[in-house]
Amino acid sequence: MDELMDYSDVVENYDPVLGLEVHVELSTKTKMFDAAPNEFGGEPNEYTTPVSLGLPGALPVLNKAAVEYGIRLGLALNCKIAESCHFARKNYFYPDLSKNFQTSQSDEPIAYDGYLDVELSDGEIFRVPIERAHLEEDAGKNTHIGGEGRLQGADYSLVDYNRAGVPLVEIVTKPIEGAGARAPEVAAAYVRTIRDIVRAIGVSEARMERGNVRADVNVSLRKSPDSPYGTRTETKNVNSFRAIERATEYEMRRQAAVLDAGGTVVQETRHWQEADSTTSSGRPKSDADDYRYFPEPDLVPVVAPREWVEEIRASLPELPAAKRRRLKGEWGVSDMEMRDIVNADALDLIAETVDAGASPAGARKWWMGELARYAKDANLELADVPVTPAHIAELDKLIQDGKLTDKLARQVLDGVLAGEGSPAAVVEARGLEVVSDDSALQAAVDDALAADPSVLESIRNGKVQAAGAIVGAVMKATRGQADAARVRELVMERAAQ
Ligand code: ADP
Ligand code: MG
Repeated sequence: MDELMDYSDVVENYDPVLGLEVHVELSTKTKMFDAAPNEFGGEPNEYTTPVSLGLPGALPVLNKAAVEYGIRLGLALNCKIAESCHFARKNYFYPDLSKNFQTSQSDEPIAYDGYLDVELSDGEIFRVPIERAHLEEDAGKNTHIGGEGRLQGADYSLVDYNRAGVPLVEIVTKPIEGAGARAPEVAAAYVRTIRDIVRAIGVSEARMERGNVRADVNVSLRKSPDSPYGTRTETKNVNSFRAIERATEYEMRRQAAVLDAGGTVVQETRHWQEADSTTSSGRPKSDADDYRYFPEPDLVPVVAPREWVEEIRASLPELPAAKRRRLKGEWGVSDMEMRDIVNADALDLIAETVDAGASPAGARKWWMGELARYAKDANLELADVPVTPAHIAELDKLIQDGKLTDKLARQVLDGVLAGEGSPAAVVEARGLEVVSDDSALQAAVDDALAADPSVLESIRNGKVQAAGAIVGAVMKATRGQADAARVRELVMERAAQ
């Protein structure tokens, strides 16, 4: 068990410095250096070629789309784009790396020297400086069988090279200073902002649960902002926003306790343990490079003509921050409401629902209410809830047209979520439409009046609120499906006769 300092004491006595390395898997059709499909899942080793298996004599050919995606992402991160850059071999042995080196970029990244403005929960904007964004290939995947599913104690291990050679961009920040007590929040918000951007510019599906976006979190502490940087630890592959926030906080508290006791922080990689929300020691890591980087002799340098870069810049869509500002105005929501929408990952869904014809208020109500609850209960991302923005727009229209009450609409939505088809189909199949057909309503009103004839008398004597009893009775008789406003009109008409 690590000693931990109380968080309030940590931020009173130490200044945290962060460094984030974010890997983004690009959604190109094929891999970085060969024609194997870039797909998730599949049978083990289905998506491989001699190149992604690293067979002798197999030669890489660079995927132009991956370069274009890298430039697009670099531009969205306000980076400069290299006029010319090359790939390098990063040498190390691991079973999921069949060539014994990873083809990456070291001293000449495709994009460098940028920044990203990150919005925090109270609306404050924090600028994160970016050192570089470079292209590289992903490794395969080891699965350890037996024991606890880890290498240590396993009976044997399996290797799947489907992911080997998938194009990646690794985005590395400069040391992030000045976040203070908000360092954990800054770390998580930064990665979330990257996730939103890569989705918006269409370079990655950015599904955290599939590992499309993975973050390494570097943390160090120093006595004060004037002191030199302290020794950092690097917590690897922290793959949810919540975990990034908690891992940062944990390392701050752990390192503070070490320093406070007069110890020194060991420079090492660490692993995030989701089960008990702690980090544990990995391998020691020196700054000195043991990777023997050298220029990849099998690939020519990448030269990105300026006209091409400018074309890509011009084709960038509206970025999430600008889109948020625009939609906030168009929808008439407050800063806080907008942040709730963003935090619920509902912005694009609501926007698509509005584009499909719904009112902003209606779209927001369903996605932030019923559907957010459904997603939470089913442990799904909101986007994976089995309804489409078009469904919700259709539902909203049925309400606007007076064909459904809110209550009925909820039942219709249940049907849609249960896979019974579109809202119109569910209304039809379950017979849920509001009854506004006058003859049917008239009959129901007359039945209710016959059961309680004193109501007409009361209304005629000026007690119009007495009509409420009849409306209530009719709603009950029609199981909530009557058009209440029309029922009230019919009662008043009867009283006037
Ligand atoms: P490595 O090869 O060890 O992963 P990188 O340069 O790729 O090194 O990434 C290190 C990250 O940590 C960068 O984001 C860098 O800005 C950041 N960093 C460097 N020094 C410190 C420090 N003392 N404290 C916190 N972060 C640091
Ligand atoms: Mg690194």
